[in-house]
Amino acid sequence: MNTILVTRSSMPDYEEYCEEIKDLWESHWLTNMGVKHQQLQTELEKLLDVPHVTLYTNGHLALENAIAAMNLPNGGEIITTPFTFASTTHAIVRNGLKPVFCDINAEDFTMDVTKIESLITDKTCAIVSVHVYGNICNVEEIDRIAKKYGLKVIYDAAHAFGVTYKGKSSASFGDASMFSFHATKVFNTIEGGAVCFSDDSLVQLLNDMKNFGIHGREEVAFIGGNAKMNEFQAAMGICNLRHLDEAISKRKLAVERYRSHLENVEEIQLSPIQKNVESNYAYFPVVFDEKKFGASRNEVMDELAENGIGARKYFYPLTNTFAAFHGQYDVSKTPVALYISKRVLTLPLYEDLTLDDVDRICQVIMKCKK
Ligand SMILES: *Cc1c(COP(=O)(O)O)cnc(C)c1O
Repeated sequence: MNTILVTRSSMPDYEEYCEEIKDLWESHWLTNMGVKHQQLQTELEKLLDVPHVTLYTNGHLALENAIAAMNLPNGGEIITTPFTFASTTHAIVRNGLKPVFCDINAEDFTMDVTKIESLITDKTCAIVSVHVYGNICNVEEIDRIAKKYGLKVIYDAAHAFGVTYKGKSSASFGDASMFSFHATKVFNTIEGGAVCFSDDSLVQLLNDMKNFGIHGREEVAFIGGNAKMNEFQAAMGICNLRHLDEAISKRKLAVERYRSHLENVEEIQLSPIQKNVESNYAYFPVVFDEKKFGASRNEVMDELAENGIGARKYFYPLTNTFAAFHGQYDVSKTPVALYISKRVLTLPLYEDLTLDDVDRICQVIMKCKK
């Protein structure tokens, strides 16, 4: 019996990658916005249909810089979600800003937009929302609220690469969107990330920010860090982009197979098929409520593990319960997020996952039902 991991990175053929990096042995130009970096950036601007893309060495630094570029007041409050990866909340706190946690909705796990306005104070300066599992946030309502109160909007779109809503790219919403190209994501550059935006005045700022604040040849304009994507990462991205459509189609087949087994099981909850959304099939989360299904999320996870199948409590724990924050946030204020985080499991999903594997995974799950 083969082991099935929860994820497996997409990679081009070995020969294709070697061919792509061959030039680097000619140029000896390995980083600092070289030819591959420029090429990938241009290709992504086209693919994601957005005026500007800035590439980063990882998604987290991309998000930190995107927030920093908004020039928000020190100590300002940012309305955000605790149902996310550590990165989202950390990027806010590491910028000297204060996360104010908004609950999520129980249907698609994105921010519950009906709860945002009651959290706004005179210190609120921005909204950082997450397209969880590739589910698109209620971007219209977030946009309306942001305009009404003069707030910046930054999307953590780490899960939403290539997703469109009403035909518009997920990269086009808010003041900026961050993507992660980490090895585990739908599209990877080994590690990597990007900020997408349309404001021309941010181009130079973000480019300087990821390069120590160096502006031109001799001027260091501010105290920036180092977060540049290198040429080997960009080469991996160029190769993986050639196979992106195929990777997403294969994921789609796996997701459809999962749905065929699990969609009619009333005792569990699946992520919805969102209206007007073209998905990237990034994750397959399932919510197991012990009171309905008879087995808890942890029991299902253990049973899968015994059968050599990986699954992930994603996202658990909520970021507003992290030891790092020493109990300063009241988790009872985000009850839906708490409920989901205690019951959700993401099942294996990657382009090479076979339909037989999906069948086997679903069999093990259904055996847990009492
Ligand atoms: C992966 C991820 C990040 C961070 O991206 P890295 O490229 O790993 O730094 C941020 N937010 C979410 C929701 C993610 O899934």
